[in-house]
Amino acid sequence: MSTTKYIFVTGGVSSSLGKGIIAASLAKLLQARGYKVTIQKLDPYINVDPGTLNPYEHGECYVTDDGAETDLDLGHYERFLNVPTSQANNVTTGRIYQSVIEKERRGEFLGKTVQVIPHITNEIKERVQILGKSGEFDIVITEIGGTVGDIESLPYIEAVRQLKWELGDDNALVIHLTLVPYLKAAGELKTKPTQHSVKTLMESGIRADILVCRTEHHLSDDLRRKLALFCNVQKEAVIESIDASTIYDVPNLMLEEGLDTIVLSKLSLSKVSSPNLERWNQFLTRHKNPKHSVNIGLIGKYVELQDSYKSILESFIHAGATNEVKVNVISIHSEFINKENITEKLSNLDAVLVAPGFGERGIEGKVETVRYARENKLPFLGICLGMQMAVIEYSRNVLGLEKANSIEMNPETPFPVIDLMEDQKSITNKGGTMRLGAWKCELVKDSLVGSIYSSSNIEERHRHRYEYNNSFRKQLEEAGMKSSGINQETNLVEVVEIPSHPWFVGVQYHPEYKSTVANPHPLFVAFVKAALDHSKK
Ligand code: GLN
Repeated sequence: MSTTKYIFVTGGVSSSLGKGIIAASLAKLLQARGYKVTIQKLDPYINVDPGTLNPYEHGECYVTDDGAETDLDLGHYERFLNVPTSQANNVTTGRIYQSVIEKERRGEFLGKTVQVIPHITNEIKERVQILGKSGEFDIVITEIGGTVGDIESLPYIEAVRQLKWELGDDNALVIHLTLVPYLKAAGELKTKPTQHSVKTLMESGIRADILVCRTEHHLSDDLRRKLALFCNVQKEAVIESIDASTIYDVPNLMLEEGLDTIVLSKLSLSKVSSPNLERWNQFLTRHKNPKHSVNIGLIGKYVELQDSYKSILESFIHAGATNEVKVNVISIHSEFINKENITEKLSNLDAVLVAPGFGERGIEGKVETVRYARENKLPFLGICLGMQMAVIEYSRNVLGLEKANSIEMNPETPFPVIDLMEDQKSITNKGGTMRLGAWKCELVKDSLVGSIYSSSNIEERHRHRYEYNNSFRKQLEEAGMKSSGINQETNLVEVVEIPSHPWFVGVQYHPEYKSTVANPHPLFVAFVKAALDHSKK
């Protein structure tokens, strides 16, 4: 008999209601009461993982320590809980089918006709229970992507129905997140869409235990009673989720609404201690009461969509709170930056971050940005492609290697300062084949990064194919670009900096994936501090 409790979070009425934040907030409250909790996201799309998706489609691709390319909601889970996730925390329809088809090819189904029910649903059920069976968690929260009624989420909903029946009401419950829209002309909140979406869920054999209602206005007592009656839930199980000024307020809002207590009582779990949110609230206080503000430019090519750089934006929030600084992130499209307009675009900034990215579009604007930051002593942080741009800029403008480039952008370049490693050259498949996940790096003690991190042996997460080319290392170092972080096994340069500049760091890895509320990333903390120092000049 399983002792792990399962909570399923489904969505109705509309997408983008914030299931991930509700799941993370509930998990935070349960964790703050002493329970070990993890969150999993099931994505109904057919891509095997979001690694091959354009950021415009699904926002940022989040990378875990074990090298899984995952949905950005996993970033929220880690930032809220401060517990690493893994491949098991994100499953897509593509992965489910891939695994079932591989089993079929191995003959594991013994000649049976392979069908959505039971084979696909069994695979889903197994994936849900892997985390529970690991024995590491008291509670597993599984968020089902999409909206009930979607064709592609049907097998997931069926798997939830079966699991709920098999595990029993004490061990599994369903939270349904819906929208209660406000009709301005009528001056009223409307419950009908919620009634319909609960009904849709019911048609699939699932009765929601708890309703979380996204709303722009408070739910009256009458409205809660009406929702309870028509949707078949207890009145205390109607939870209001009012628009919040920051996602980090949501755990407290859910606490006020009693979401954690109703969950615990339905799952027959003890409510012994009240949640300890002391550290969380200290962070919120600092976040909401900044003493200074800085303007940091985010130079990227997907800036139209906020979600593309989600982890970077959140890292700034964590680092801002640590410094008691409000970080105004000024997003600037790298495609529209050139020699002529660069001063106008960057002159009122206190620091610039050149973002990660793929492909040629917008890279000259990034190189120009690096030049501007280097020459004007503006604090600079280059992440992944941003670091590669820093190496290219230095090679071109300081070493005088005019056509220096990454072979990703120009395979014919005479100076491939960013190159493809030998083991990447034969790879043609795009999915899951980059250098991914956590890699060790040793920092030079006498360097800026050496003084920023508390240890000189670090592990950071990667997601890239191209690398710093060691053939140019001697020249770059002699000309003043220091290699201050090295992977000892591969001898790859992971960090560069310019000691003659007040704050210039390029990192081949993605520090933003590891910044959490409890552990703001030291590099972001130091970068925001450098921006603050610059602003005071
Ligand atoms: N396109 C670059 C590479 O593949 C950088 C990737 C990134 O910024 N994540 O190496």
